[in-house]
Amino acid sequence: MPRPVDNHLCLLAILLAGLWGCGAPSQPPTGQSAAQEASAPSQPEHAWKWKLITTWPKNLPGAGLSAERLAERLRMMSNGRLDIKVYGAGELVGAFEVFDAVSAGTAEMGHGASYYWRGKIPIAALFSTVPFGMTAQEMNAWLRYGGGLALWRELYAPFALVPFVAGNTGVQMAGWFNKEISSVEDLKGLKMRIPGLGGEAFNRAGGVPVNVPAGEVFTSLQTGVIDATEWIGPYNDLALGLYTAGNYYYYPGWHEPGTTLELIVNQQALESLPADLQAMVETAAQAVNDDTLADYVAHSQAALDTLVNEHGVQLRPLPKDVLEHLRAAAQGVVAEAAGEDELSQRIYASYMAFAERARRYTALTEQAYLDMR
Ligand code: CA
Repeated sequence: MPRPVDNHLCLLAILLAGLWGCGAPSQPPTGQSAAQEASAPSQPEHAWKWKLITTWPKNLPGAGLSAERLAERLRMMSNGRLDIKVYGAGELVGAFEVFDAVSAGTAEMGHGASYYWRGKIPIAALFSTVPFGMTAQEMNAWLRYGGGLALWRELYAPFALVPFVAGNTGVQMAGWFNKEISSVEDLKGLKMRIPGLGGEAFNRAGGVPVNVPAGEVFTSLQTGVIDATEWIGPYNDLALGLYTAGNYYYYPGWHEPGTTLELIVNQQALESLPADLQAMVETAAQAVNDDTLADYVAHSQAALDTLVNEHGVQLRPLPKDVLEHLRAAAQGVVAEAAGEDELSQRIYASYMAFAERARRYTALTEQAYLDMR
């Protein structure tokens, strides 16, 4: 497989090594000259061999590949000192056991999405996606420059986990249905695989949300355990073969307007790394965050064309009244996610204030532009 980013990675690694070399706060140990440092052997004296467990099937396009790319970047940037083996869901632990396993130190790293842990920490869902909430671009802005990431780290600290922003899918598709959705009535009693706050909103709108990991979606739909499913978008849904079990493909993904993926690192493991490797983890996660969104944008329309033109998929917009019904249901669900505790309320307030500001500016820029393009 061609790897066009490799040259850029090499350049990045050289640049970063240079920056850290210049800006290192501590002096080399007594007796070690700069010349000796420069002539240090290229092979690592000590390698950290880590496990990265994921909520994705091994090598799933987009989300799953982003975990592989993260490991590859870190291996390259660290000259092999940080040597990470990636495990797909079920290889070491099940998809929904990733949080607990990294918290316990069974694996040093995990890759997934924070809304999977909503049963344990309801407010965690805000760090993945909120129905009718912020887009990928707005989420990145909140997490990086709006205080979001600091709040996320505060939320996960009692679990000895440090979260990093590590991927985004962009706006997803509303999903696959085995019948047409013409009105709000058609949602009644519909069993749909849909996670997070969107799942709860779907429940209040009359549906029955079911949460199954990616590896089980196809079988669940084909055997009638579920009537409908969302997953991510055409890039993944084509690869998973979802079109063979539900012919109607609806948009837009009201429930996931720009889902942030997370890298979680066991705090003790992270702190055991030297400062340069810790910085590489942060930098590699940020690079993968950017790369994942580009991957989805680059491949989704071609996959959608294949679904429609080669597999006869019926592409449909959700009717406006159905969307308004879902929006009303979602507003209550999101407000309740703030819960009773002080930290959850602070996270909710931060998200909502930023989202409101982002919405106003986006209306004048991205939205205005897209409307007229
Ligand atoms: Ca989804």
